Amino acid sequence: MKTIKAIRGMNDLLPQQSVVWQYLEAEIRAVVNGYGYQEIRMPIVEYTDLFKRSIGEVTDIVEKEMYTFGDRNDESLTLRPEGTAGCVRAGSQHGLFYNQVQRLWYAGPMFRYERPQKGRYRQFHQVGVEVFGLDGPDIDAELLLMTARLWRNLGLDKAVTLQLNTLGDIESRNRFKAALVEYLTQHKDRLDEDSQRRLDANPLRILDSKSSQTQELLNDAPKLIDYLDDESREHFEQLKNLLDNAGIAYEINPRLVRGLDYYGKTVFEWVTDQLGAQGTVCAGGRYDGLVEQLGGRSTPAVGFAMGVERLVLLLETCEVIPDSVSNDADIYLMMPVEVEGAQTKGFKIAETLREAFPSLRVITHCGGGNF
Ligand code: ATP
Ligand code: MG
Repeated sequence: MKTIKAIRGMNDLLPQQSVVWQYLEAEIRAVVNGYGYQEIRMPIVEYTDLFKRSIGEVTDIVEKEMYTFGDRNDESLTLRPEGTAGCVRAGSQHGLFYNQVQRLWYAGPMFRYERPQKGRYRQFHQVGVEVFGLDGPDIDAELLLMTARLWRNLGLDKAVTLQLNTLGDIESRNRFKAALVEYLTQHKDRLDEDSQRRLDANPLRILDSKSSQTQELLNDAPKLIDYLDDESREHFEQLKNLLDNAGIAYEINPRLVRGLDYYGKTVFEWVTDQLGAQGTVCAGGRYDGLVEQLGGRSTPAVGFAMGVERLVLLLETCEVIPDSVSNDADIYLMMPVEVEGAQTKGFKIAETLREAFPSLRVITHCGGGNF
């Protein structure tokens, strides 16, 4: 009989790897906790409309990456491709945004039907952080300080750089969109196929097209920065100031737009050049309009998500995993089974050791054999 294997792009985590994941997760938990962020856990499955309405119809995720299926009652459900939508849904549903600031984080599997390759899988894991109820650049800066601290704690600070951009408010983005579309329409024949399609539906996404010919065309395109509204410009200036004063280095990337529709003002990515094409390990930004767009009360919001698989790959590539991260026993206790009462005594000694040194890993030999 043919044996059944795991689904392509969905990985098992064997003990040798899970110990590294546990280390990374513990480090992340310690940092977010140190900034007063609280954990929220959402379901892995949500109504399909939640993702359509939040992520946007004309995005890679909604167009071709979602695991969507009808349940037995013919409701359209989707395995979550990201966490922000569910987090906003949960927060609204339970009244968390009512005149309160919420600093939240979550961790868990996400699902996207993509072509599996190094750093890109169909089930992958994110740690997400979202803040609701604050509209100033100070909280944007806090999120970046928090991530910078995590990289330092993990020994990855030399391996990642921060890219920063602002998308302005909706009106400035619309004015920019119009100018961009006008320019690109004149050169439509030189755009890659995806970008041609996006020209009407989602022209901003053309900015982060992977096609080099399209990127070349964009060199002379209108720049978003020239269309910014005063408030967004001021927000961005203050954010840069806060980062400068905190000693956080960044690079302005005017092409950084992020894949989802809901972002505005600040957007950022932490990128590395050590993982090949899948170089973004953490990405996020401000999405002040999303809560209202999903039917909640108007609430400013900002957040990011980290890709856990990519961070693990980076820890391995940079060889910064501490030696103490292992499954090895601290104490291995052997008992000669042929000696009367040795086993009973051995078990007792092991329990005493575990009692006295709870952090030690004590393994007692089981299964008999020759001493
Ligand atoms: P990319 O441009 O690499 O496709 P994205 O913009 O689709 O990334 P986000 O939706 O911003 O990614 O997700 C945040 C982070 O989650 C990414 O920066 C990345 O580290 C990780 N991530 C996204 N998709 C995958 C995937 N299919 N496999 C592994 N990690 C992923
Ligand atoms: Mg993607």
